[in-house]
Amino acid sequence: MKKTDLDYNHLHSRLLEEMNARHIRNELKTDTIALLVFGACENHGDHMPFGSDFIFPMELAKRIATKSKKKNIIILPAIPYGVSLHHNKFQMTMSLESHTLEIIIEDLFNSIVRNGIKRILVINGHDGNIAAIESAARVIKDKHSEVVIACLEAWWVLVGEITNNLFEVWNGLGHGGEAETSAMLAVRPDLVNMNNAPIQVIPKLSDNVRIYWKFDELTNTGATGAPRKATVHKGIQALKALENVLLKFIDDMDRTNWKYGLLLK
Ligand SMILES: [Zn+2]
Repeated sequence: MKKTDLDYNHLHSRLLEEMNARHIRNELKTDTIALLVFGACENHGDHMPFGSDFIFPMELAKRIATKSKKKNIIILPAIPYGVSLHHNKFQMTMSLESHTLEIIIEDLFNSIVRNGIKRILVINGHDGNIAAIESAARVIKDKHSEVVIACLEAWWVLVGEITNNLFEVWNGLGHGGEAETSAMLAVRPDLVNMNNAPIQVIPKLSDNVRIYWKFDELTNTGATGAPRKATVHKGIQALKALENVLLKFIDDMDRTNWKYGLLLK
């Protein structure tokens, strides 16, 4: 076997930006899953990088693509900007309006569908993007009912719920808080400076009714939750738990050929 064949068969990336036309010609199948990451570029406190909201989800995406049994996942380039209007008071926050992001997502979903892909999985890294993702998905789903669009909307909420007291404060919640900081410590420790981790801030908010706060109404530091409680160990546990959720989702969907509800026979 020539070296190029070996490279092609075994070693190439699942990232679209690193694939070539030959890879795509050979691999694009009816069961291909397009995996997208939507992030943000915003202040995450003095200890975390601005790109946290796509750096961690991209790492999660790469692990899913590698570990998924069928190796039929193609990861699209991450969108590094999101709807961060609520963080605008903090320096160098780059914000898209929600309708701008919605149009970007619709355009991407349309491009995916135009290429015959009927399975779309989103890992969202940032709270402000949730509404735009949902709106875009509704539009595409209305036009192309045969396409399945799924989204892990808020890993930072889910991870506290599925890890059984892994986090010490506020179930890990918070922007640049215990869970997010731990997650970054697990995947890019070189970008986290625990010496600068801000003090704990647990905003006083209603449990049951949502207030559309501006983040500077909640904290002066750019972070909430308990960043100083973050550890690499907690981050690795969080990563594993989220990996399991996504791999199980893909396995379960594969078992029914990505049909659900009344389409199940
Ligand atoms: Zn964010």
